[in-house]
Amino acid sequence: MTKETLSRRHFLGAAAATAAAGAAAPALAASTNAPALPAKWDIETDVVVLGCGGAGMMAACQVVDAGKKVEVFDAGVSPYHTATNLCGGLFTACGSKLQKADPSIKDSWEAFAEDIMAYGNYMSLKEPVYGFTKHSGEAFDWLADHGLPAHHLEPYAGHTHKRAHRQETFKGRDYIDTLVKQLAERKIVIRHKCGLSRIFFDPAENRVVGVECGKGDKKVTCRARLGIIMATGGITGSPESLDRWVPSVAGKGVAIGGPNNDGTAMMIAVRDVGVPLSHMQYIASYPCGIVVNGRNGPYCRWWFITNNGGILVNKNGKRFITEKEGICHVTPHLAHNPDGCHYVLADQAGWERTLTKIKLSALVGLPSWTAERIEAEFKAGKNLWKCDTIEELCEKSGVNLEGLKTQIATWNKAVETKNDTQFGRTDQQWKIGKGPYYMIRMFPWNNLSCGGVRVTEHFEVLGWDMKPVKGFYAAGETVAGVHGAFYCGGNACGFAHTSGYMAGKYITGYKEA
Ligand SMILES: Cc1cc2nc3c(=O)[nH]c(=O)nc-3n(C[C@H](O)[C@H](O)[C@H](O)COP(=O)(O)OP(=O)(O)OC[C@H]3O[C@@H](n4cnc5c(N)ncnc54)[C@H](O)[C@@H]3O)c2cc1C
Repeated sequence: MTKETLSRRHFLGAAAATAAAGAAAPALAASTNAPALPAKWDIETDVVVLGCGGAGMMAACQVVDAGKKVEVFDAGVSPYHTATNLCGGLFTACGSKLQKADPSIKDSWEAFAEDIMAYGNYMSLKEPVYGFTKHSGEAFDWLADHGLPAHHLEPYAGHTHKRAHRQETFKGRDYIDTLVKQLAERKIVIRHKCGLSRIFFDPAENRVVGVECGKGDKKVTCRARLGIIMATGGITGSPESLDRWVPSVAGKGVAIGGPNNDGTAMMIAVRDVGVPLSHMQYIASYPCGIVVNGRNGPYCRWWFITNNGGILVNKNGKRFITEKEGICHVTPHLAHNPDGCHYVLADQAGWERTLTKIKLSALVGLPSWTAERIEAEFKAGKNLWKCDTIEELCEKSGVNLEGLKTQIATWNKAVETKNDTQFGRTDQQWKIGKGPYYMIRMFPWNNLSCGGVRVTEHFEVLGWDMKPVKGFYAAGETVAGVHGAFYCGGNACGFAHTSGYMAGKYITGYKEA
């Protein structure tokens, strides 16, 4: 196809699209910017994979195993600089060999899908959820059969069946180690520092035909005979990216994710192919980030403290929610608190009770603070405070003294009368009594995003007209609507690897029995 015919057809395609959509939807998504095809491609291959996290590397291996050629382009410097590497090693899957080995577990992909959708307030899109839940066991088994280090099954809140496959190390690095070896065995080379800059799209055929990657004079074009798998992660890689995409959290809390994950590839897909994005405002945000060094920081498992006599208060010293609320459901309430944060408070007895249940280093400062670092943070008194009196605690933390005193009296009465007149808690057993008092300030910990491109159950990207764009697949965190309104633990790592695994198969012509 010549440059001229491409742009003419493209113009006609866009015009037809305008006419078709005009009556119902004045905001047309069809691209008017698709670049012309290069006169000569620098590289030709069967499949282009963009990104080298769990999703991208799973996809690349399946392409080669199907006897096809693959080129992997990555904006970053290493697979160890990805969200997958940062993750806690929790992979939810149904029907794995490990799960089947326990006859007491009666799980099904339908039950798994229902759990995801219920947890996400039925805001999920069923196609990626079904594509994930149907194939998650198979994808996990592939990793286990290819050297994934030791793991076990554990129950996890939000899942009605035991399906959380947890690495003994609690580290996503295990997946990366496994996949890096698998890529090496297949002689797959990753082209780092070579992020996507254009997608070549043929509107007449409704097909993606190749990419341009890299910057300046390092740019290369690559024809993709079968298509492209976009596995470029989410948008929580930097505070700037998070704040741009989710202005409701701008300026607040921790932003943590693969450092190159800023949504650029998604916007290139919008610009060059005209695919719509969906669910961009949804992020997985835990109400427990301890902000240090700007917008960095670890998190605190405050629910262990509140289950042992602690309470949650805002800067006015007031409780603002029942401490029994599901943790991700607490996060939206922080927006209405002064400074957008909250504090967990315990007296000495409550603190000691907590530490009989969980080690200090598993309670505060996850994933990396040592017990010594935590003690140093208490001494520094910027986010963690230990004080002999409530007066001193309020002076140092900035929490309102009168408000907190009144709140403690109200709470202690609720314990005495077994009647929480504020938020209806029924399990309160311990009053806030003698000091020293412990207090930790927490903000949202934004660690994964839930928006991106829409896909079919086979991970084909949907165009402006909700029809699959030929040859265009997506996998991992860049896919919209898996989690709906709330992410439930394990489903993101599970989804990334499973969708990558299946996209790599489907793009090479795999058909289910
Ligand atoms: C601290 C932390 C803990 C987590 N713990 C868990 C957990 O225990 N369980 C769970 O289910 N989920 C967890 N998650 C979420 C989960 O890890 C991720 O959703 C998942 O790993 C994403 O995989 P991915 O392959 O889609 O993205 P990534 O692993 O981030 O890979 C994206 C790749 O795309 C590349 N890229 C980005 N932009 C471009 C571009 N323009 N062009 C080319 N390449 C590009 C990046 O460099 C990278 O190689 C956690 C996340 C974090 C941050």
